[in-house]
Amino acid sequence: MKIFEFIRPANSAAAITTAAQAKTAQQGAEVRFIAGGTTLVDLMKLNVETPSRVLDLNRLPLDQIEVTPEGGLKIGATVRNSTLANHPAVRRDYAVLSQAILNGASAQLRNMATTAGNLLQRTRCMYFRDPAMPCNKRAPGTGCPALAGSNRMLAVLGTSENCIATNPSDMCVAMAALEATIHVQSQKGARAIAFKDFHLLPGNTPQRETVLEPGDLITHVVLPPPIPGSKQVYLKLRDRASYEFALSSAAVVINVTGQNISRARIALGGVGTKPWRSPEAEAALVGQPADKALFRKAAEAAMRDAKPQSENGFKIELTKRCLAHALQTAVAT
Ligand SMILES: Cc1cc2nc3c(=O)[nH]c(=O)nc-3n(C[C@H](O)[C@H](O)[C@H](O)COP(=O)(O)OP(=O)(O)OC[C@H]3O[C@@H](n4cnc5c(N)ncnc54)[C@H](O)[C@@H]3O)c2cc1C
Ligand code: SF4
Repeated sequence: MKIFEFIRPANSAAAITTAAQAKTAQQGAEVRFIAGGTTLVDLMKLNVETPSRVLDLNRLPLDQIEVTPEGGLKIGATVRNSTLANHPAVRRDYAVLSQAILNGASAQLRNMATTAGNLLQRTRCMYFRDPAMPCNKRAPGTGCPALAGSNRMLAVLGTSENCIATNPSDMCVAMAALEATIHVQSQKGARAIAFKDFHLLPGNTPQRETVLEPGDLITHVVLPPPIPGSKQVYLKLRDRASYEFALSSAAVVINVTGQNISRARIALGGVGTKPWRSPEAEAALVGQPADKALFRKAAEAAMRDAKPQSENGFKIELTKRCLAHALQTAVAT
């Protein structure tokens, strides 16, 4: 690991001023915030991330969960994943988020991992994590060995000829379905970013994963007020029962009025280059009778544009079944 300076900024303004001196907030940033450290320290040990300055956010007052004046939930950037998953309001009103977080990593990791850190966790693509290998995301222009190599865990939605890496987060899939908003503070002021606009598709610039710029500090995430009567399920399919990333997952937030689905928010994990909201599945569901045939139709719609690689074609049918089963489970609750 490269020698680096570890700094404990006195307040958010000091952290932002120092971080703004970096040339980028994306791959290879010279200044990095650290929260739980469960992503960053791993990548520093592997020499995938080599910041010269690391700014510890853990003393900043960003660790509260509060009800907003509109009745939503404001979640501080350094709220631990375990605290968030077990918060009574989250368990009651945003069950899909609680389930998603508790399906991720291990209890020890969730006790360290934070809300903002989880938003910014990096792909588990093996080539990205090995500096001896080419990788367009880590070293732009060097190529993508995953295209002709090991791609079983990688994405089938949102890929480009430059990168097919999966976004591995469980929490983000639930936040996409809940239509969260990410709040950022920078030297230019505060701004709010809709969840769907926060992560970027790889396109020609896979090294750029989010809209963040140097000096951007995520301060909190806001969930909209709970949807009365909504049925929520997170279903994660993986190679083993715990401590494993998703092959496929589905976050479902639906309302059923009479026999019909009256509202649907659907997101998928383990298959997209970003947390994957599916307006196609939502459109297929709304206004239709909630039955098995409809759930299959919605799942087909969600995966219509999926593009398999040499080893991960199985994910397409797996995800259809995952989403259909999650919908079936939701209506049965
Ligand atoms: C063995 C293992 C298994 C795992 N399994 C799963 C799993 O099954 N599902 C899953 O979803 N996740 C899994 N994870 C990932 C884990 O959820 C993430 O590592 C964790 O959420 C990252 O949070 P952190 O606070 O530790 O981030 P850090 O490592 O502290 O930071 C991550 C990134 O976020 C940036 N950052 C942090 N806070 C801010 C902020 N406020 N503003 C701007 N930038 C910020 C940092 O600069 C860094 O670039 C696993 C991790 C490990 C090590
Ligand atoms: S899929 Fe993306 S992260 Fe993986 S090797 Fe290719 S460019 Fe790198």
